[in-house]
Amino acid sequence: MKAARFHEHGSVEVLKYEDAPEPKIQANEILVKVKACALNHLDLWLRMGVRGWKLHLPHIVGSDISGEVAEAGPLVTRVKPGDRVLLCPGISCGQCEACFKGLDSACRDYTLFGVFVDGGYAQYVKSPEVNAFPIPGDLDFDEAAAVPLVFITAWHMLFARAGLKPGEEVLVIGAGSGVGSAAIQIAKLTGARVIATAGADWKLEKARALGADEVINHSQQSIADEVRRLTNKRGVDVIVEHVGAAVWEACFESLATYGRLVTCGVTSGGEVKLNVQALFGRQRSVLGSFMGGKGELVEALNLLAQRKLKAVIDASFPLQEAAAAQRKMESREFFGKILLHP
Ligand SMILES: [Zn+2]
Repeated sequence: MKAARFHEHGSVEVLKYEDAPEPKIQANEILVKVKACALNHLDLWLRMGVRGWKLHLPHIVGSDISGEVAEAGPLVTRVKPGDRVLLCPGISCGQCEACFKGLDSACRDYTLFGVFVDGGYAQYVKSPEVNAFPIPGDLDFDEAAAVPLVFITAWHMLFARAGLKPGEEVLVIGAGSGVGSAAIQIAKLTGARVIATAGADWKLEKARALGADEVINHSQQSIADEVRRLTNKRGVDVIVEHVGAAVWEACFESLATYGRLVTCGVTSGGEVKLNVQALFGRQRSVLGSFMGGKGELVEALNLLAQRKLKAVIDASFPLQEAAAAQRKMESREFFGKILLHP
């Protein structure tokens, strides 16, 4: 089969479109003919090399996959060849305490497609049966690939971690990111008032189209000042954040009393200062979040099938141009998901 993979870590040039062996399935696995694979920032970290993570090389990244079942092992009962499926990105053991509680991403064996197993930058990928979900409603393959990772992440951040309640005020940092564009929509469904930030006016227009009530251009305006103005000095109840150091202080200052700041990433760096007095005095919470469980994906998929939530797609590239797709992601000139077509 053809795949876009790397033999060494480095800049985008290490990504090569080439022949790779087709995966061999176990009895409880399926082989999926990939129709679309969405990029995530994780793909770039993995290609550059994450400290302490030993990937087998050559390596195929890609965590968000949709396609057709090409082959099913003898123990597989729930899907069959020809079925249209999307793959839940997180792979867990299914039989530990965390897995029993539905906390897949707390499983000690947790990994993602494209991390410690090969991912979707390829014509075929193998998957445990339990990770395959029928594509719901009339979603096409592109929409199905654009959904899983960011909707699981945003869902887990807003509900499981931040405990979002109807009618609260939510600040979403980075509206153009996959997580940001999902979080705006999910928060709006609960009746929240949503303030979204982005670094360009064209992205802010798209954020409004997704439902954001107020927008802040964080390359021209102060997030903290604008939030103070927009909330009558009250601050917001929940902040969804994945940028880290560059926005940390502005976010923390923007929290209302009892506000919750939930973060799932550190694209600008992970070392921040914390004013502990302002933490306890205002009874604020700082929460970490990482992926989520299959049940949370099911909940989001039900709403996607009803078109109450929608996949946000920026562009698609043929798999041969995986390097160009990653360059686009690095450029930050996108809104929503970037897809590859094998
Ligand atoms: Zn487990």
